[in-house]
Amino acid sequence: MNQAEARTRIEQLRKELNRHNRLYYVEARPEISDREYDRLYRELQDLEAQFPALVTSDSPTQRVGGEPLKEFAPVRHAVPMMSLDNTYTFDELREFDARVRKLLPGESVEYILEPKVDGVSVSIRYEQGALIVGATRGDGATGDNITANIKTVRNIPLSAPGAPEVFEVRGEAYLPVDAFRKLNAQRETEGEEPFANPRNATAGSLKQLDSRVVARRPLAAVFYAVGETRGIAFTQHAEVLEKLRSLGFPTPQHWWRCRDIEEVIARAQELEKLEATLPYEIDGAVVKVNNLDQWKRLGTTAKAPRFAIAFKYAHEQAQTRLTAITIQVGRTGTLTPVAELEPVPLAGSTIARATLHNEEEIRRKDIRIGDTVIVEKAGEVIPAVVGVVAENRPPGAVPFDFVKHIQGKCPACGGPIHRDPEFVAWRCENRSCPAQLKRAIEHYVGRRAMDIENLGEVLINQLVDRGLVKDIADLYALGVEQLAGLERMAEKSASNVVNAIGGSRHRELWRLVHGLGILHVGEGAARKLADHFRSLEALAGADIETLQRAEDVGPVMAQSIHDFFRNPRNQALLKRLAQAGVRPVEPESRAEPQEGPFAGKTVVITGTLSQYSREEAQEEIRKRGGRVTDSVSKKTDYLVVGADAGSKLAKAQKLGVSVLDEAAFLKML
Ligand code: AMP
Ligand code: ZN
Repeated sequence: MNQAEARTRIEQLRKELNRHNRLYYVEARPEISDREYDRLYRELQDLEAQFPALVTSDSPTQRVGGEPLKEFAPVRHAVPMMSLDNTYTFDELREFDARVRKLLPGESVEYILEPKVDGVSVSIRYEQGALIVGATRGDGATGDNITANIKTVRNIPLSAPGAPEVFEVRGEAYLPVDAFRKLNAQRETEGEEPFANPRNATAGSLKQLDSRVVARRPLAAVFYAVGETRGIAFTQHAEVLEKLRSLGFPTPQHWWRCRDIEEVIARAQELEKLEATLPYEIDGAVVKVNNLDQWKRLGTTAKAPRFAIAFKYAHEQAQTRLTAITIQVGRTGTLTPVAELEPVPLAGSTIARATLHNEEEIRRKDIRIGDTVIVEKAGEVIPAVVGVVAENRPPGAVPFDFVKHIQGKCPACGGPIHRDPEFVAWRCENRSCPAQLKRAIEHYVGRRAMDIENLGEVLINQLVDRGLVKDIADLYALGVEQLAGLERMAEKSASNVVNAIGGSRHRELWRLVHGLGILHVGEGAARKLADHFRSLEALAGADIETLQRAEDVGPVMAQSIHDFFRNPRNQALLKRLAQAGVRPVEPESRAEPQEGPFAGKTVVITGTLSQYSREEAQEEIRKRGGRVTDSVSKKTDYLVVGADAGSKLAKAQKLGVSVLDEAAFLKML
């Protein structure tokens, strides 16, 4: 291909990719599969690599940036990004309306009602249709320049042909609810801390200095306002929303023009019912005066505009008193603040504790000990403190100072702590921290690791607190006499525990690999590593390049495994485990079965199975000579369908792929 031909094809590909992006993200009606999209994308990447002169900054391949930044540069907002006053009741909305009309005597006032998206606000500036800079809100006057991260968000156009000369668009970046669940499930299998909620995950992602990390998080955005503009004049807020949409920006699917405040109230209730169908979380609705000339006359207070107000939905909430803040230490040392509450009924159970997420959230909400707080339980997530009832604050309550509260050290071991900016968290740095050790043992004995029964949390706590166990290898030295002295431990149960521990000396290799708790190595990865390396020695001795040859092992995981086995402490632990007789059995060698229902077949699994974890089911199929892949195509022989199956099922039906429900699958096994 010569340069001219390449140029033609490159332009075609860019147009196609942009069109599919738009279909996928803005219109939610994709025409091609992810795989086909990836194929086009790769073709473009290859051509651009061959003809570097043809690379342009708005090519879809330029979403992922180069080297990580050292820090974010400040961006001054030409038009400040304001916050909103809140209301919680319809009467407060009526009061808002009365205030507005009092300031606009004799005028009629029309409102727009739109969702209050619970994301992270961003402002993006286009000049001559090209994306120039993306910024966070910051303090409203100055934010961080996060352009490289913004460009990774696939539904944010890199160029907006036909946009006015200067066009700043404002809205929220968010992690779609589905993607959030997937990301957390993945983080959990990889042994990383899950994110508290989509908003935190989004905020954490946008704060990454390495845009390549952000690119792996499927963020999206939705726009509902403009900042500075040149070359266009709007007279109504509704026109802004329509213009944004016609230029290819994602806007809220639902918004309403309302004649008066009673209609606003009706629409706000309608929106709340639609909440579960939206791709983002909302925490209420925003009511805005439609006429922009009235905006000017209403003006703003120091903090918020007078022409708009937020109406917050009362989810499943309850109020109670926060009596204390305790700190939980996780397996990797993360310090999570927990609210100790006066017990209160909420969504069918009694709540006495709720998460406070992290230091920053406590500060943001100004939560103080002694406050009456609002606890909320949204969906399956753990109860969280979402706000305080300011009027009930006891005199003398002081702002909560996280570091002072724990006297600058780990509350479990007194060890040094450090800040981990990615998780907005503090971590205990002491590798022998008893709290971390307890969590590490729980992980080691867990059903998805060494599967040691009879060793529960209460017993583990006692073993560590009494100094009987200082690392995992100590478990194997425990005798009946030592255990029998502990609380709630009869001789019979003591010997059960000792037997259970002893019985784990020869588990499958992947169980030990998973049980060691190597960062980024979850159950699935552990199975693949065990299959590939076949012995702990081979895995421990592998260099980074060798590690990456195993299926699904990327550079981050490879580095982490490498570091783990080079660490002298871990080397000592492995030696002591070996001395204790822990010798995992090697995986059976894999002579591919040539017969049986799965031999030579390509299988995809979707949804949740009740009898097997995803990894176990894959293992069963592989053992029978089948191949397991991630996406349904014409080449797929079977789709195994568990509960809550997603789009794969529809696709399989469309392509005529045989679908197996769990019962049929079990039967074939
Ligand atoms: P708050 O942070 O509670 O003061 O609420 C103000 C913030 O709500 C704004 O800074 C925006 O980030 C966010 N927001 C979400 N949806 C909207 C919307 N439709 N209109 C205006 N602001 C919104
Ligand atoms: Zn500690």
